[in-house]
Amino acid sequence: MAPVHPAGRFDAFRALADRRGACFACGAGQGLVLVRSEYPAALARMREAVGQAYACGHLGLSVHGTTTSVDIQVVDGAGSYVAGEETALIASLEGGRGCARPRPPYPTEHGLWDAPTVVNNAEPVSLSERFARPGCYEVELGTSVQRIVTELGGGLKDGAELVALQIGGPLGGFLAADSLDVLLSEAELSAWGAALGHAGLVAFDERVTPEEVLHHVWEFAAAESCGACSPCRVGSRRGLDMASAGTPPGQEWERLSRLLAEASLCAFGRRIPPAVHSLARAYGDRLAGWGP
Ligand code: SF4
Repeated sequence: MAPVHPAGRFDAFRALADRRGACFACGAGQGLVLVRSEYPAALARMREAVGQAYACGHLGLSVHGTTTSVDIQVVDGAGSYVAGEETALIASLEGGRGCARPRPPYPTEHGLWDAPTVVNNAEPVSLSERFARPGCYEVELGTSVQRIVTELGGGLKDGAELVALQIGGPLGGFLAADSLDVLLSEAELSAWGAALGHAGLVAFDERVTPEEVLHHVWEFAAAESCGACSPCRVGSRRGLDMASAGTPPGQEWERLSRLLAEASLCAFGRRIPPAVHSLARAYGDRLAGWGP
């Protein structure tokens, strides 16, 4: 069994070292760390980590006496979920709307300012406020989800009982409380219709109804769709309308799922159907009309 990282809590300085390592590996002299402006504490910590790295000689001209120079700048990014997608992220860094664009060309050929660019998404595991010990943690890929929930998270606050666990953000996926014996890896999670995504774990107990969770997924999809392609822009609104009206599963849901999965321009739209299906599976009969 893979161990939980001994340091446990997420460390901005170590995360920065990984970004610096990526610069060395691909011979890049310049790096940007984008942190969303809605997270001022994270921005301050990352800026402090960059300052420390320059002071220690890990960054700047002639790193530790070598001929290598690496500069890293922290950028205060405009908030939008899809701006985490690599082409949307590059567009927003260039001052444009954070919208995805078709690939190819890939950013490794034509990226930021048309230069070859490696986009490296940092994904510490973050545990939501319903956990007894919420926060950001570093764990190795392959750690059991059950261990993360019980050993790091300490279970739920006030002894509440977990009903469903959302992994990887609103469009990641859901696991039922009795299905946590899964390893935190893309392959294992995808077998359950879930995805690693940004590695956030959100715990749901009895206080939230499955219908509210379903509505929230569609509300999030409709609000955060960047609007660049009509299957996702229109489809996410249609899904929200259907969820609001309590439309039971059937042909219309299936048509909408197919459209989103097959015709969306980026992974945002394509992830909506599997997220909804995994929610239905995790809640089973509790979600009226959606049981297996
Ligand atoms: S799938 Fe959604 S988020 Fe992605 S490009 Fe289309 S509208 Fe934008």
